Amino acid sequence: MPIARTLLAAAFVTQASVLATTVYLHRVLAHRSLTVRPAVALVFRSVLWVTTGIAPRAWVAVHRKHHAFSDTPQDPHSPVVLGFWAVQVGNVKLYRDTIRDGVTVTKYSRDLPPDRLDRALFDHAFGGLAIGIAFLIVVLGPLAGLLAAGIHTVVYLAVNSAVNAVGHTYGRRPYDNLATNNQWLAWISGGEGLHNNHHAAPTSARFALARGETDPGWWLIRLLLTTKQAEVRHEELKLKQPA
Ligand SMILES: [Zn+2]
Ligand SMILES: [Zn+2]
Repeated sequence: MPIARTLLAAAFVTQASVLATTVYLHRVLAHRSLTVRPAVALVFRSVLWVTTGIAPRAWVAVHRKHHAFSDTPQDPHSPVVLGFWAVQVGNVKLYRDTIRDGVTVTKYSRDLPPDRLDRALFDHAFGGLAIGIAFLIVVLGPLAGLLAAGIHTVVYLAVNSAVNAVGHTYGRRPYDNLATNNQWLAWISGGEGLHNNHHAAPTSARFALARGETDPGWWLIRLLLTTKQAEVRHEELKLKQPA
């Protein structure tokens, strides 16, 4: 089993899912900071289905609730309230508990009712993950395929937890909110590490706001903009709480 090929495959899958998460789930759906053409949306939905099994409307609801109650007891995953490790390690459980509370998803994702494709495919998480794992096994062989899937799962969950835990605990706070900026985290999370900027300007499609900040998710958005596959909501950035 060539380990380099396995690691490379895992890194590729993780980055594809990280970019689909930040650009589609977060910027397109949760904040409506840009719109994408239906074919592009379908690609994002498919990537998320086979690499994460996440139901977009559930992710969006938890995230909107996070913005509505940031770092208060109603925040689904605040390290300020619950402690750093409770979020870094327990993020998946916090997420599950929130989507199963019988209120959050209905209340915060009213605009995202399930469509025919959701009912037939995307709402069946295990079907998508089975396709994703089967694909890796066909390409890499059984052992390497399962290992790549395992590495991807651990890294994807750790990166998403870090955005919620590290991104509200350690790092720079150029704007007046409790979220933080960490460029190292932004590099591995498609730009999500610039979380203080994001809380200051939640409807901005671009997370890098100052010199020296890099937002890899914005590179993908730029590509979609230049190929006329997307449109951003605000050309001009309006900051909620200027420094
Ligand atoms: Zn946050
Ligand atoms: Zn957000």
